[in-house]
Amino acid sequence: MRSPTVTFLGGIREIGGNKILIEDGPDRILFDFGPSFAPRYEAYYSGFLQPRSTSPVKDLLEFDLLPRVEGLYSREALADADLAWRAPEIHGIFVSHAHADHAGYLSLVDPEIPVYLGEGTKVLLDAIQSSSPTMKYGEHAWRTVPDRSPVKVGRLEVVPHPVDHSIPFAYGFVVRTSEGTLVYTGDFRHHGPRAADTRAFLEAAAGERPDALLIEGTRAGPDPRRNLTEEGVRAAVDGVLADRPTLALACTYPRDVDRLRTLHGAATSGGRTLVVSTRTAHLLAAVASRFPRGSLPVPGASPGIRTYARKKKRFFKWEEPFLDEALTAEEVRADGKRYLLALDLAHYPELIDLRPPKGSPFVHSMSEPFSEDDVDDRVMHNWLDHFGLEFHQMHASGHASGPELEAIVAQLRARTVYPIHTEHPEAFRSDSGTVVSADLARPYALGRPARAS
Ligand SMILES: [Zn+2]
Repeated sequence: MRSPTVTFLGGIREIGGNKILIEDGPDRILFDFGPSFAPRYEAYYSGFLQPRSTSPVKDLLEFDLLPRVEGLYSREALADADLAWRAPEIHGIFVSHAHADHAGYLSLVDPEIPVYLGEGTKVLLDAIQSSSPTMKYGEHAWRTVPDRSPVKVGRLEVVPHPVDHSIPFAYGFVVRTSEGTLVYTGDFRHHGPRAADTRAFLEAAAGERPDALLIEGTRAGPDPRRNLTEEGVRAAVDGVLADRPTLALACTYPRDVDRLRTLHGAATSGGRTLVVSTRTAHLLAAVASRFPRGSLPVPGASPGIRTYARKKKRFFKWEEPFLDEALTAEEVRADGKRYLLALDLAHYPELIDLRPPKGSPFVHSMSEPFSEDDVDDRVMHNWLDHFGLEFHQMHASGHASGPELEAIVAQLRARTVYPIHTEHPEAFRSDSGTVVSADLARPYALGRPARAS
């Protein structure tokens, strides 16, 4: 019989787009199913130019932005495509975490295929979907799995281990096949508040003596961007806020719950209230019960955090619970030194009403732009310059650094190492096995080649 194989249907020489197929005899499972980001995707689609909602698979297959896999897509998503619908031939999809590049194409998948994920991951996907006009995951046979408990799919056994990442409820996996064990890291770091989870995962993974290690390498190779630990971000923001007599502004990812906790801590210890968007408030409220009581600040329920009332004509139902207590631009402007306002790029027109005094600090608590001609980055700086705001870059990456990745490869001693989710697979080396810079859509037998040598 054929030995088990792993096939990469995305996430090769790109950051994002993870789609990993594992086959063991008749049993076939996928890990993650997310879109490619720039530059692959944005070579054909950008801004308002997007695949048609009536024929999404057809429009993505045209540019090889999706894999041609039968028995995977839903009838509806396949409409008009030259790939026929077939009853599901994939027996489960495991989602490592709720970031778009891992879960964003679930909407295209046949609803009969079970989707396995952490309980928190599901809560987060629901909260993202209910508050986003564009992010939809579709109907599925959802199967939530408790941390570290094995799931059987045919002869395959999958153990989800929680890891630290820039979104809560992220997982790495140990996959036991009929001929050896594979480890898939998902996206991870160990310089955030759940570092101990990552360490426990790596230890458990090393204990399995894995044949194959599928390791993310977002920061492998040249890594010029400045990176702090989460604690480092806290100290840096504390420094910026100290003795400032004006409004302070920040921007971060609404789903980066750790960063929101960090900003909340810095704001309150500096005598300020953290002011967040209704979307952030909604996400925090949705996941709060999964954190130790009182440890996650939620507008309306916790001190030191409020919601900001943007000026707009109509509000969504999910925003309503936060509107009564929300602060207006006039209120924030009148007493700026009492607030740290977290503002998304799309909400910058509020600055026209807020008019922060020249020299007010602006903390950019997100990744630095990947390219030099990043449009959003240019626009952001134009706004900051126009209002004379003082720019501070303060971010902790969601990913392990190059030297940390090297140490993990050495710790796990896998016979074959497959760098994924990286633009620099060549930066990986291993003393105990072979590093394979995999090709897209080509099946790799588990363990075999290394065993024979
Ligand atoms: Zn990712």
